[in-house]
Parts: sequence; C-alpha cells; structure tokens
Amino acid sequence: MPVQVVTQRSRGFICVNAHPEGCARNVERQVDEAQAALHSPAGATPARLAGIRNALVIGGSTGYGLASRVALGWGYGARTLGVFFERAPEGDRTATAGWYNTVAFHHLAQRDGLQAASLNADAFSDEAKRAAVEILKREMAPVDLVVYSLASPKRTHPRTGVTHNSTLKPIGKAYTNKTIDLATRKVQEITVEPASEQEIADTVAVMGGEDWKFWIDTLLEEGLLAKGARTIAYSYIGPTLTWPIYWDGTIGRAKLDLEKTARELEALLAQRVGGHAWISVNKAIVTQASAAIPVVPLYMSLLFKVMKQEEIDEDAAAQMRRLYLQLQAPGEEMILDGAHRIRLDDREMRADIQAEVAILWPQVTTENLLELSDFAGFDRGFKNLFGFEVEGVDNAKPVETDVRW
Ligand code: NAD
Repeated sequence: MPVQVVTQRSRGFICVNAHPEGCARNVERQVDEAQAALHSPAGATPARLAGIRNALVIGGSTGYGLASRVALGWGYGARTLGVFFERAPEGDRTATAGWYNTVAFHHLAQRDGLQAASLNADAFSDEAKRAAVEILKREMAPVDLVVYSLASPKRTHPRTGVTHNSTLKPIGKAYTNKTIDLATRKVQEITVEPASEQEIADTVAVMGGEDWKFWIDTLLEEGLLAKGARTIAYSYIGPTLTWPIYWDGTIGRAKLDLEKTARELEALLAQRVGGHAWISVNKAIVTQASAAIPVVPLYMSLLFKVMKQEEIDEDAAAQMRRLYLQLQAPGEEMILDGAHRIRLDDREMRADIQAEVAILWPQVTTENLLELSDFAGFDRGFKNLFGFEVEGVDNAKPVETDVRW
C-alpha cells in the first residue's frame, strides 16, 4: 500500500495527480453544506419526504455531476448510481481526483446510511449502458431522475467505432482576445483559428445530445424509468464577450444540439412516462473542463471578483442545491426561459454584474491581475479540484494513495 507525500504536478491547464485527503475534504464540505441547507429555515423543503428516490448521474465524479449527486443523496436521501471515467491508483501513481471524490462519496454515504453504486466506464459505450442497467435493476429501480453531466474531449461512437475529438474553436473566422496562460500566469493575446466543418461535426458528436438520447432510449427499453421521470443536462451560455469561443463556437453548436435533444426527449418522456427533459444553463465555475477553454479562465477570474463583491457567487455545490432542493423540490413548478431552459446563470448574467466585468476586461494586465480580478480564487479553486491546498489538509504529510470504494 503506497503511503507517500503527494505534491501537485501540472502540465499546462491540467494537473496530472491528485491528493486523496484533499479530495475527501472537498466532498465532505459539500455534504456538510447540503445537510446544513436542509436544516436551515430557508431550506426546509419537503425534499426528504417525497420526490427523488433513485437517481442516475452520468458524469458524477467531479464538477456539476458530483455536486448533483451530493445534493440528491443528502437532499432527498436518494439512492444514486454515478457513472464516470476515472483513472484508478496504480503503484505509486495517484488516481484522478474524480476517483478519490468517489471513494469519499461512498465513505460518507455509508456513514449516513445512503445507498450508492458507482460505475467507472466509458459512458458513451454500449457496455457501460448495459452494466448500468444491471446495477439499476438490482439496486435502484425505477429511476426518477437522470442527470447528464459529461464533459469529455472524445467519444468513440458505439455504432461506427469512429473516435470523434471535440475542439474549442470559433466558427467562420479566427478569434483574438485576452487569455491567461495558466502555466506562466501571464495575461496575453491568443488567436484561435476557426474550426473546419469536420471539427464542428466532431464536437457535436462528443458534446451534443446523441449519447444522452441513447441513455434515455436504453432506460425506456428496459422499463427502468419511473412514472414522471425527469432528465436534466447541463449547458452554458455566458456573456457576448466569450461567445466567439463558446456559444457561437464549436461547443455552442454542441449545446444547441443538446437543446434539440431536450425537446425530443421532453416529447418522448411526456408520452411514455409522463416525464420531462430539461436543459439547465449553469453558472461558470472552475472545473477541469472549463479551465481548458481559451479566454474563459480570465473571464471567470473577473466574474468571481464582481460576484463575490456583491455576495452572490455560487460554487458547483451551491448551484446544484439551488437546482435540486429549491427549483426541483416536490410541488415546485419549473420556471423556464423562452427556449425551455432552466436558468441557474441568472446571477452571473445580471446586467450590473456583466457591466462591471465589461469595464474591467480592457483594463486587466499581467501586472494588475491579482488586484483587478480574483485570479487568486480561480487558481486556488483549480488546485482544490485535485485536492491541493484544501483548507484543513496538510499536503506535506504522507497519505495512502491506493484507496478504493
Ligand atoms: P468536469 O470535467 O468536472 O466533469 C466531467 C465528468 O464527466 C466527470 O465525472 C468525468 O469522469 C466524466 N466523463 C468524462 N468522459 C467520460 C466518459 N467517456 N465516460 C464516463 N464519464 C466521463 O466537468 P463540468 O464542468 O462539471 O461539466 C459537466 C457539464 O456541465 C458539461 O455539460 C458542461 O458543459 C456543463 N457546464 C459546465 C460549466 C462550468 O463552468 N464548468 C458551466 C455550465 C455548464
């Protein structure tokens, strides 16, 4: 059993190792907050009494998926099946953060008497869907809620065997703007060349709605969806500042495809089980997926500064508590925008918040980065994702890295 000191090792915008105790502490904090929210007068929803008994969370080991799993588990006492793709520990090599998050999730679920199962597999494959069906049939049927929270750089299509790679590129013409080089911490210009038609199609194949539809079709075929079952997938829109690289870019095309799928699934679920399908447009938060997008980390650093000043900033856990414990609570009517989307990004998109970010944007430089923006918060949040520099955890102490659920 390797007990070792784990020091953060990064490559560009990714961290190649993770700290098991830091990750465990992060999950514990989310659980503590969910419990506190339930017991506060504002959080006194009938969540525990009715609603969601069984939930499938696809992409449930980090970011919005993990936060959804915690909110559903501790908010509703729901049994959850988490599906994700993480690296196990091997010899002296640490596991990925999502692996350690899951170990912590199971530990806390067991402590609190919550039933949970996890499947580490490629969610895009037919094998993973079959394995999930077996677990659901055995342990948690029928399913009341399916959360679709995958963020992946590639997908091997189960029918054609072709592997599609997603890209983060503008469409039509090159895009030049400021960004932070996360390795050098310099604010500099970046030019991203426009995507080819093939790259657009590939990104839609990875991050669009086809796989979500395959999951729901599989669950319907197997008779595994409860009466009134709901499914939710996550999206992002953001301000016009980032549109060339996000909403009007390759990933935006994929999100439009996801919206189209939501409309198809809404009709299908209404007819088959009296259920619903929604897109929830969430706020920008630091995750492994969002840190990889050019320009966005600098935008987030400014956004966090402004939102914290106004005391309206939310992390993934707070967003998912708002979604599941308030908006989705039993008896609540969903409030949707004109395009049938839930808008959890309402605070980020407030006109006064965006006006302030727009004023700061042209001013920010390498020299004044720490003063004008909350890059320090972004940077800490990024390290925290991998269990580093987490409050209350001493990274200099040796830890067991070969841990499993
Ligand atoms: P993340 O990187 O934290 O999580 C991605 C999850 O997908 C992980 O659990 C990972 O294991 C899983 N995964 C990746 N490939 C997989 C595969 N082949 N099979 C099984 N699991 C796989 O990402 P995130 O930022 O939480 O993103 C989740 C969703 O939320 C995405 O749709 C994203 O667009 C959306 N979203 C993110 C933000 C943001 O700011 N981060 C904002 C709004 C919406």
